[in-house]
Order: sequence, then structure tokens, then C-alpha cells
Amino acid sequence: MLISPQKLAVNVTEIRSRIDAAATAAGRDPAMVNLIAVSKSQPAESVRVAATLGVTDFGENYVQEALAKIADVGDPKLIWHFIGRIQTNKTREIAQHFAWVHSVDRIAVARRLSEQRPFHAAPLNLCLQVALVAEPNKGGLPPAALAETAARVADLPRVRLRGLMCVPPIEPNLEAQMGMFSRLAVLLAELNADGIALDTLSMGMSADFEAAIAAGATQVRIGTALFGERRDPLDR
Ligand SMILES: *Cc1c(COP(=O)(O)O)cnc(C)c1O
Repeated sequence: MLISPQKLAVNVTEIRSRIDAAATAAGRDPAMVNLIAVSKSQPAESVRVAATLGVTDFGENYVQEALAKIADVGDPKLIWHFIGRIQTNKTREIAQHFAWVHSVDRIAVARRLSEQRPFHAAPLNLCLQVALVAEPNKGGLPPAALAETAARVADLPRVRLRGLMCVPPIEPNLEAQMGMFSRLAVLLAELNADGIALDTLSMGMSADFEAAIAAGATQVRIGTALFGERRDPLDR
């Protein structure tokens, strides 16, 4: 559904103030929390309107849809984040058209992204997706595999490992949500203690971004609360 520019402006203002309030309440600098507007299943026109409101970062899950939209919007200042499941035969297009990939969960994909990143482009920023709870049909590395994978990805030449990402199961209340997100923060601290310098915790969506910010999120990925319901609300 196409959201009106007026309603999108209201939503952007409201989400920004909720981000600021959650950061301030946690004793954090709101400038350290970056908003990624998840524009999957939304038209290019909504991205253009969001960009006029100062939104710079957009998240997409499907390669074909994203490439068409990136070309249609045609704004080289925007920063595009790939956040969906990665098929091996799509890595070249991802490496060419995105600045960030949040959903890397195997070394073979990271290696391909590094090999296929164009030489004239800056290194591709990567996050490793962690499955805090093992769920079928959902991506993510088991926490036990993280240290070795991170060490190997950090050595690849054309990518830059920045941090960790998660899409935890929906939890009923703020405490349960925070418990989940705090586990990702602990895993990041362990990697940093091992000497792999990371600065990014990509966590928190429309339903739980305040808990994620309280637990240390540096990037929140928000779709529905900005753009309204997607055609398929289960599309995540
Ligand atoms: C769709 C999606 C989001 C945004 O979800 P909302 O609930 O609409 O905010 C964030 N992260 C990932 C990985 C997604 O697939």
C-alpha cells in the first residue's frame, strides 16, 4: 500500500523521536543509533519521499526488487543495505549495488562477496547474522560457530566485517526482548575481546527497536512503523 507523503513525514518524525528517547533513557548518544528504513515491497516513490525527509539508509530483502528500485530512485547519496536471505547466485549483484550486507551467515557467501566487490568501490560492509534461537527456515549462524567464522571473514580483502545482526523471535515484553538483544551485545563484546574490532549491532525492528537500543543497537531496521503494512504482513 502506498503511504501518503504527509503520513510518512509524521511517521519519520515519530520514529526519530522514539529512537532519541530510547537512546537517552539508556544513557546513550542518539547520534550513535542509525535508522535504516526497510523499504521492501514499498515503491520507489516512498523511498524518494523518505529521502526528502532526511532518511539516508534503506534496507531491502530481495535482489531483483531492490535493483529495480535503486535504479528507479537514482540517488547516489543513498546508502543501501541488503538484509535478506542470500542465494549464492545473487552475490555478484549484491556486491555491486549495496554498501552493506547484514545477513551473511556462511563463509562461502562472504568469500564470494569479497571476490565480486568491484575494485573501484569501497570495501563492502558486512554483518554476520546470528541465530540466537535455532529456528527452521530462518538464517543465521549458531553462536558456537561465530568466533571462527568472524576470524575468517575479517581476513577477506574486499569486505569489512563491521558487526553482528539478529532477527530474534517475537518476544512478548520489553524484558524478554532486551534479554535476547543483550545476548548479541555479549557476543560482539567477546569478539572485540578476541581482537576482532567491530562497531555494529544491527538489531531491532518496528515491534522491538526500543529494547534493542537499550541493549546497544547501533543500527535499527524499521519498515512497517514507517511505511505502513506491507502487502504480505508475514513478509519478513
Ligand atoms: C522486514 C525486515 C525488517 C523490518 O521489519 P518491520 O517489522 O516491518 O519493521 C527488519 N529486518 C529484517 C531482516 C527484515 O526482513
